[in-house]
This record gives sequence, structure tokens and C-alpha cells, in this order.
Amino acid sequence: MASAHPLSMDPSSPDPSKPRFGEPVKLLPVIFVFGSMIFLWSIYIVYHCLPVIAASYWPGFFELIVFNVLTGLVLTCYIRCILQHPGTIPDKDLSGVATWECLPQDESKLKYTSCEGDAQEKKRSGERRTCKWCSKYKPDRCHHCRVCRMCILKMDHHCPWIYNCVGFKNHKYFMLLLFYGTLCLFFMVWTMMPSALKATRDPQSPFTDVMVLVFGESIATILAVLLSMFSAFHFWLMLQGMTTIEYCEKSKKDSSRKRSHYNRGLLGNICASLGDNPFLWLLPCNNVGGDGITYVSEDTPLRLCSNKDVGSPLEKSLTSPRTLQKMELNLGSPIIDNTLTSSKLLGV
Ligand SMILES: [Zn+2]
Ligand SMILES: [Zn+2]
Repeated sequence: MASAHPLSMDPSSPDPSKPRFGEPVKLLPVIFVFGSMIFLWSIYIVYHCLPVIAASYWPGFFELIVFNVLTGLVLTCYIRCILQHPGTIPDKDLSGVATWECLPQDESKLKYTSCEGDAQEKKRSGERRTCKWCSKYKPDRCHHCRVCRMCILKMDHHCPWIYNCVGFKNHKYFMLLLFYGTLCLFFMVWTMMPSALKATRDPQSPFTDVMVLVFGESIATILAVLLSMFSAFHFWLMLQGMTTIEYCEKSKKDSSRKRSHYNRGLLGNICASLGDNPFLWLLPCNNVGGDGITYVSEDTPLRLCSNKDVGSPLEKSLTSPRTLQKMELNLGSPIIDNTLTSSKLLGV
């Protein structure tokens, strides 16, 4: 069971006594990404910007400024993705009275006395979802990550490239990382192409310059295409108000039920991920509202669902052991008791 952490002001922060980077080998993908960034940045500056500035000052200077601003934003988002914990289940609720902790033998007794909240996702039996590893009740959209060894609020997926889960508190940084990363790579590909073409056509160009420019342009193009496809998928999910895990759950549902229970409409979904103030949407700052635990509000369709949905064939397929097992394999996170009956809702 997680111990209390009185020094932490945020109840959903992890126990500070647990080491954040306890397994150095899992830092290798992070080191690889940093290395790739430095490699591409150096090629762009040394083999493209400086020669262009030497030939014609202002165009090269403009590209230098734009590229470095984008690189700075990418680095900021990337570092915040790594360092910002996505949030875990607190020990107690904000009042400090009700508890999220549960002991297996007391589960039935505590069922109605602890943080009951507005939890919508429940086991097929109607009981609240619990995590057997953390010994806590699970809020909606929360899942246990086997790599992080804790439950993650609004878990999207575990990302080895940031040695962290993408969840409630760092989802905005992740989305901005994809956005600025794609923008930066396409800017590099587009503006460096004339330099690469000129070097390949000019017989006077040193062989090293030609090789480095063509190699850098090729790597940047491949990364830009891959990252743009990955970004398009995640921005589509954001506009649907869905996490990757919820998308995998829904992929088993029939097409008429594709709408997420957490869908607040286009603008509401963007605000839920990037914050309520549109002027701060593109800045890597912490301005996202909510607590990562409660998702029932006036603008979610949760209140519109009726009890007739409970136990429908659709939900049975959603919660079949095979579906859950497949999700665990794909996402690397055990969806241990995710026998959701998410449409057993308030019913108005
Ligand atoms: Zn857990
Ligand atoms: Zn994780």
C-alpha cells in the first residue's frame, strides 16, 4: 500500500520516497531521443543555416530564429513530459475523510463508506473497480501501469520514449510535444532541401557536406512522416475525448456506439486536454482544470445514458477476457479488473 506523503501538496503526486528513475536502462530511449535532437540540430545549424547566413544574411537569420524557437519548445515539452508525473490515486479525498485505499478482505464493507464519488466505470458485478497491486479503488479512466508500478489517472498509454506514462497531468505536454516536434521536423525538411539539392548538384561541394546534408534530410523526412501520422491519431483522439486505452476498448464496439462517454464536444474536448484558456493552448504550461478523478459534468454525455444499456451484448464484448488480455499486450499495462460497465450511469 502506498504510504502517506505529507510533504507533497498535491495528493495525486506519487510517493516521493519511491525513486522516479530507478531503472537506468529504461533511460536509453530518452538518451537516444536527445542524441537524435542534438544530431539533427547540429546538421541544420552547421551545414544549412551558417552557409545561408554567409551568402544572404536575413533569410538564413530568419530560419535560424524560427528553428531555434521551435527546438526550444520541443525540448521544453519533452522535458516536462519526462519530469511531470501523470498523477496517481490519492490516499484520501480532498476532505481528508474518505479513503481511496481498500483492503481485499474489507472490500464489501468499504464499498459504501470510502470515496464513492461519481465513479461510472464498474466491474460487471456492479462493484467498484479496484487495483490489487495498489490496494486502492480506481477512479474513472484510471489504469494500473505495470512499468511505472502504480495506477495512473486518465491513463493514455505508457511511453518508453519519455520513460513515463502519458496521463492526466502530462497529457498536454505530450500533445504539444507531438505538435511542435512535427512542425519543427517539417520546417527543417522544407528549408534545408535547397541546401541539400545544391550540394548534390554542385561538383565543387565537399563529399562530407553532401553526405551529411542528404543523410540529415532523409532522417528528418522519415521522422516527420512517422511523427505526423502518430500526431494525427492522437489529435483525433483528443477531439473525440478519448484516451488510447478507451479507443482500444471502443474498437471492439459496434460503429453506432463510437461516441465516448467523456466526449464534451469539440471545444470542450480541446479544453479538457489543453486547458480552458485558448491563449495558453499552445504554451507548455500547467493550466488544465479538473482533478483527474471526476469526469461527470453537465457537458459530458454520461448523464444522458440510461440504465437499459447495462449488460448489453456490446459491453459483454468490451469486457471479455480476450479483449482485456489483448489490450494488456498492446499497451504493456495490465487492465486487471477492467470489467467496465461504463454505461451504468446516473440515469436521468
Ligand atoms: Zn494500481
Ligand atoms: Zn507507465
